[in-house]
Amino acid sequence: MSAPYPWLDVTWHRLLDSRPRPAQALLLAGPRGTGKGALARAWAQALLCESPRQDGEACGACAACHWFEAGTHPDFLDVGLQEKTSREGEIRMATAIEVDQAREAVEFVRLSTYRAGHRVVLVDPADSLNLAAANALLKVLEEPPLNTVFVLVSDQPRRLLPTIRSRCTRVEIGLPAAEAATAWLVGQGVANASALLAMTGSPLDAVRWGESGDLDERRELLEGLAHPERLDPVVSGERWKALAPRLWHAVVYKWLADLLAVRLRGAVRFNPDFADTLMRLGGRTDLSALLALSRQQAEAGRTLDHPLNRALQLQSWLVRYRHLFE
Ligand SMILES: [Zn+2]
Repeated sequence: MSAPYPWLDVTWHRLLDSRPRPAQALLLAGPRGTGKGALARAWAQALLCESPRQDGEACGACAACHWFEAGTHPDFLDVGLQEKTSREGEIRMATAIEVDQAREAVEFVRLSTYRAGHRVVLVDPADSLNLAAANALLKVLEEPPLNTVFVLVSDQPRRLLPTIRSRCTRVEIGLPAAEAATAWLVGQGVANASALLAMTGSPLDAVRWGESGDLDERRELLEGLAHPERLDPVVSGERWKALAPRLWHAVVYKWLADLLAVRLRGAVRFNPDFADTLMRLGGRTDLSALLALSRQQAEAGRTLDHPLNRALQLQSWLVRYRHLFE
């Protein structure tokens, strides 16, 4: 087992070097789509493995490794967003890590370990801890029991309580250089690697987009946005309400960012395949309205999973979008 992704190699070996005395609270911070979660899991396995290789990597063969890979290691707790069923019977991901989950982690670290080695608590995404959960967790982060290692993962470390951040040894995970990321994508058999990378900004998001039907949905969406004068907010709102909010946000956010880039610098960054359209539209936009809409879109990214009336929400967005060009 080497680093989960080649661009994590240096960080991975630094972590392995620390295996004899690991940080008791580690924060892996950096942009999404860089493999922080996979790195955190590999690190947890390396810590729990009972016959690690000489360089500290997990053996992949001992009982502990088997349990870890099966998700049943008794000294590993995975604290993340859980699925929830709404009153209407709809299953969706929770938007926060709740206090009950943090309390479970606190209990977990107070018990003695099942095996003789480490005990690992993974908190991913740590920026989703709600205030009560963060405060509950803080207590054990301040004085972690012996042999206990917390690994926190975050795309938005600024949203963590400063008191939590200051307890952690922070490791920054940056985006790989575009060339290295493209080479890796090509090696994974991803078609249109460099275009996908430009569009998504990170290699793992590029893989996700390449694999799913998202690329087709993006195209449909952008072909609509490319002709604001023909957009009917009611019709398009109805048609697009079925799109996953995350996809909508990712596409629209980058589209607005490109309009802004054209307006300010005459350059397109995320959607090179729509460069001509963006150049044409970008010059016509009302700058202050565009800035306001972009800002609002960035805010909306935080509440992606709360669409009240999706079609209505999209309609009012589309009305504002059309105004950009009037
Ligand atoms: Zn092992």
